[in-house]
Amino acid sequence: MNQLTGKHWTSDTPGYEEERLGFQRRDPHRPAHIVGATTPEDVQRAVRYAREHHLEIAVKASGHGHGAPLDGGLLITTTRLDRVTVDPQNRTAWVQAGATWQQVIDAAAAHGLAPLSGSFPGVTAVPYTLGGGLGLMARRYGYAADHVRRIEVVTPDGELRNAEDDPDLFWALRGGGGNFAVVTAMEIDLFPVPTLYGGSLYYDLAATPNVLTAWREWTQTVPDSVTSAVAVLPLPDIKQIPAELRGKYIAQIQLSIIPETLDSPGLVSSLRDVLGEPLVDTVGELPFTESGKIFDEPGRPDAFSSRNVLLSELDPEALATIPKLAGPEAPVMCVVGIRHLGGVLAHKPVVENAVGHRDAQYSLTVLSPGEDDLRALHDSILAPWAEYVVGRSLNFSMGPLTDGELQAAFEPAGYERLKWLRGVYDPDGMLRANHPIT
Ligand SMILES: Cc1cc2nc3c(=O)[nH]c(=O)nc-3n(C[C@H](O)[C@H](O)[C@H](O)COP(=O)(O)OP(=O)(O)OC[C@H]3O[C@@H](n4cnc5c(N)ncnc54)[C@H](O)[C@@H]3O)c2cc1C
Repeated sequence: MNQLTGKHWTSDTPGYEEERLGFQRRDPHRPAHIVGATTPEDVQRAVRYAREHHLEIAVKASGHGHGAPLDGGLLITTTRLDRVTVDPQNRTAWVQAGATWQQVIDAAAAHGLAPLSGSFPGVTAVPYTLGGGLGLMARRYGYAADHVRRIEVVTPDGELRNAEDDPDLFWALRGGGGNFAVVTAMEIDLFPVPTLYGGSLYYDLAATPNVLTAWREWTQTVPDSVTSAVAVLPLPDIKQIPAELRGKYIAQIQLSIIPETLDSPGLVSSLRDVLGEPLVDTVGELPFTESGKIFDEPGRPDAFSSRNVLLSELDPEALATIPKLAGPEAPVMCVVGIRHLGGVLAHKPVVENAVGHRDAQYSLTVLSPGEDDLRALHDSILAPWAEYVVGRSLNFSMGPLTDGELQAAFEPAGYERLKWLRGVYDPDGMLRANHPIT
């Protein structure tokens, strides 16, 4: 009989509550056992123990992407499995399953290198990459999943394997989420980008109603070294918010420019020339280690849900519906985030993976805080975009998806292959991913 190693909790052990919770507080896991893995062997023993005791398994890192909860069963937490080792000659990092992007960024920066991290550096690198991974340099280098060289996993049969030796498994893990194996570490590419030119321009939508259309037009002129987004949100009138922004309906243009040979200040000025001076302007050169300042997202754990669509274009008429449907008059706070895609995201990687919808030009997400089921509200905000929808993003879908919605995150043939591979690697359905392929 296999024994559990690493730290171990059951529902009556002190620390259970803290260990089962992550960043996303909505409908958390209620496992019978939790194993806090410190080594790949702890993961392997936990999987074997679960197999012997017919337990379902879920994996949690920092918990930003929590979706379907596990009731009973065994939760493996990976936050203590967080070593990052950089190989500066080959420009790669070996990243264990629980390392956050900030840990990878800091280790890489010591060698003038940077990973394909996203807007919030507290997110865990491995799960982000399993879901595709749309980062601050996405238009220049593609998805994070396009730059994975090796993946060490424990498959549901309890074997520790190198997934790159199995083309099907390696394909599925890069974009297909946590449905096929428990990843213990992966080797990813790093890029020679020590600094970014970036930050946010904050406008009051009441005073500058053309922010969204001006940003849209600007995105159609910029080179691939420019990855940008815009968040539209009503800010509360409370003293924690900077005085200039307090109580206003804000459009925050988020800019991440790889300096390379570009005139970065000139590019941003061309946007300011159209829109006028912003209420707050944080744009400038910053070391990659401070790249979290670009989106400046809140770091406090909370309950939230979101829905997302990938779009073929950003129709100006549909854009005009956002303040009406998701603005200050909406029944709950809605944050609409639009990201500019295209560029190298549209290219197939050298070793193909499960990431779908590379033709999408923009992604649009609507997110609200709270425990309530806001599916109907969020769907009504996304309805005007129906004719431009090419699919959905796995990573930006927070909260459970229906089977049809999950299917829409992949190409049709890709989804069929993922379903088949799920049967191959996890025939007993032991693994419960945040977005389960059944
Ligand atoms: C504030 C914020 C900003 C974000 N920014 C971006 C962004 O810029 N770009 C982007 O692409 N995404 C972004 N995301 C989405 C994020 O990448 C996903 O939600 C990702 O799954 C989060 O990983 P986590 O460790 O934080 O979450 P977790 O909830 O710990 O993990 C998510 C899921 O991944 C699976 N999983 C975790 N670890 C393993 C493992 N070792 N082996 C197998 N499966 C595993 C499990 O199914 C788990 O439920 C953001 C999310 C938030 C909340």
